[in-house]
Amino acid sequence: MFKGGLLEVGAMCAEARKVIIIGSGPAGYTSGLYAARALLEPLMFAGYMSGGQLMLTSDVENFPGYPQGVEGPAMMIHMREQAERFGLEVQDKNVERVDLSERPFGVWVEGEEFRAEALIISTGAEAIWLGVEGEDAQKGRGISTCATCDGAFFRDDEVIVVGGGDSAMEEATFLTRFASKVTIIHRRDVFRSSKVMYERATSNPKIEIRTFRQVKLWLSDEKGLTGAILEDPRDGSEEEIVCTGAFIAIGHKPLTGFLDSQVETDSEGYIVHFDNTMTSVPGVFAAGDVVDKRYRQAITAAGMGCQAAMDAEKWLEGQH
Ligand code: NAP
Repeated sequence: MFKGGLLEVGAMCAEARKVIIIGSGPAGYTSGLYAARALLEPLMFAGYMSGGQLMLTSDVENFPGYPQGVEGPAMMIHMREQAERFGLEVQDKNVERVDLSERPFGVWVEGEEFRAEALIISTGAEAIWLGVEGEDAQKGRGISTCATCDGAFFRDDEVIVVGGGDSAMEEATFLTRFASKVTIIHRRDVFRSSKVMYERATSNPKIEIRTFRQVKLWLSDEKGLTGAILEDPRDGSEEEIVCTGAFIAIGHKPLTGFLDSQVETDSEGYIVHFDNTMTSVPGVFAAGDVVDKRYRQAITAAGMGCQAAMDAEKWLEGQH
């Protein structure tokens, strides 16, 4: 029961925060910065792996203000420090579940209950796996979704990268620091990647691109990955490729499981905005890759985080 800002939970009383931000990354930290500067005393649950996908990125060259580029993790540390300077409180914990059926909303973290009048969801997205035969057994052994994390294990090895977007180009280019050869496997001959990243990859003598190929089956022995059977989607013909490492870069899916369908999403699971950055639940806002399947850039996520905090502030004002 809600009584003048204090919620009775059995013997415990959880004081309702004005804003809880769930998830870090550029969207979360920017919403934290704006909410803190608006004196909303925001609390952020940043996740056990705070910082989001940029913690797994090497150079970020397209975020304005960094003429020489910046390492993704360094940028996330800067964003966090900036928001904390204005009073954002950050806990590096995962939210297990929420209750959006009444206000203040319930947020459960490691069994502890928190309450907030407004929520900003910025949980981002996670890498998608191919899901072909032999993959599960080799995850973390020879098959990875993160070249920045695992690339150094493949010094002087032949590796493949699956995908035709910017992630695939970026991963492949990064992997040439270690691997003797990197083969990009793409299922068609049109690439989603930006021209600059495609050209950087194709002009690298260590990178070969194989189009009209998709992985049908991973091959391995007792030591780990040995290769893959590739299939031509046009005629089903097959060939074997030898590699000891494989990096899947075929996109991401939004992280919304903890919401348990309490917020409306589209057919692919991305949260839908109803009123500016407000979701289907009044008082619940969302920003970044958990919403955006089109742009998915650090700068667009940061911009949306700013919008979500300003929308939350305005909405909270309207409640009083
Ligand atoms: P993406 O642009 O959606 O590209 C995914 C690629 O994977 C596509 O080539 C797609 O092929 C392929 N694919 C999807 N499912 C597949 C499957 N089951 N089997 C084989 N191939 C499959 O994803 P992304 O590369 O992760 O990029 C996402 C966003 O992040 C983009 O906006 C991108 O610009 C951005 N990004 C930016 C940077 C940077 O600027 N530094 C770096 C990385 C990512 P089809 O084309 O045939 O569908």
